[in-house]
Amino acid sequence: MTMFRRCPREYQFAYVMRRRSATKSEALRFGSFFHIGLNAWWHAPLRDGCEAPCTPEYRLEWAFDAMHEKSAEPGEGDPFELVKAEELMIGYTARWGDEPYETIAVERQFRLPITRDTDGGAWYDHGGSIDAIARKVNPPAGDYPAINEIHNVEHKTTSQDISPGAPYWRHVRSLDSQVSTYMKAARELGYNPCDTIYDVIRKPSILPLKATPIESRKYTKPTAKDPKPRLYANMREEDETPEEYRVRLQNDIASNPDRYFQRQTIVRLEAEDEAHEQDVLQTAEMIRFAEQRHAFPRTVSACERYGRLCDYHPVCSGEANIEDSRYVTKENTHDELGDV
Ligand code: SF4
Repeated sequence: MTMFRRCPREYQFAYVMRRRSATKSEALRFGSFFHIGLNAWWHAPLRDGCEAPCTPEYRLEWAFDAMHEKSAEPGEGDPFELVKAEELMIGYTARWGDEPYETIAVERQFRLPITRDTDGGAWYDHGGSIDAIARKVNPPAGDYPAINEIHNVEHKTTSQDISPGAPYWRHVRSLDSQVSTYMKAARELGYNPCDTIYDVIRKPSILPLKATPIESRKYTKPTAKDPKPRLYANMREEDETPEEYRVRLQNDIASNPDRYFQRQTIVRLEAEDEAHEQDVLQTAEMIRFAEQRHAFPRTVSACERYGRLCDYHPVCSGEANIEDSRYVTKENTHDELGDV
């Protein structure tokens, strides 16, 4: 639905023709990779062998195992990406590992029929997968009344500013459509959550350092005190190793955890849910119209986003054909739901 609203042509390529870029952008690849670790982190308490309450160390161990397993697959395994994910996961565990949440479900799939009153039947299913559902439990040593709050948990990785007053949160608090959809879905599944914990991880912008090109290197002039010419301090003779990169990342994350990890509790008012329902129904009507009329216009104002061009830009600009080998046909329409 998000893609159709952004650009119907993009939706046609991706979800009608099921042609997807054969290579994933770095940003998307890292987001999916880290999400595998987050799923394992939240899933850890549901596994055999985890003593209650599940310790942060046990969650971290499961997250590392899942990420290492993924990085061993063919085409995966960039050592710098793994270091970045590991250090973020260590920081995430230090920041949130002691929060009193007990996991109830992870990646809980749902399907909600989209209907119109006069229609008598569903046109489409509104499907998705809730990242996690958790119960807040009493702090171990506290003399508090029993707490039995259920929360939806939604993870996001982003390059944007996630400080509490940032525009990122103004949008999430009022208009993020996943929050409304997943709250409704969790209620339909019988969990009755009171709100959504929006759990955001900011991706590090620190990049591995490269050796200074030989022609650009500058050396100090020999002096009586220091006769050996030395490369300027801001230049390098060799590329940074993954372990050197780890140390810089570690220092940055540890010295500024709020920059990397933020959570906010999001509630939806009845009027906001109703407006969202209208959005869903009307978008479904537009998709149906597009499919019946084979009308998927281009939204050329959406071609550039997050500092990069849309995967289908070569096709829309006439440089390539959608049948080119740079695109592959996916077996499933929705990978995360495993359906056709
Ligand atoms: S390149 Fe632009 S017009 Fe073409 S599919 Fe992508 S967003 Fe749409």
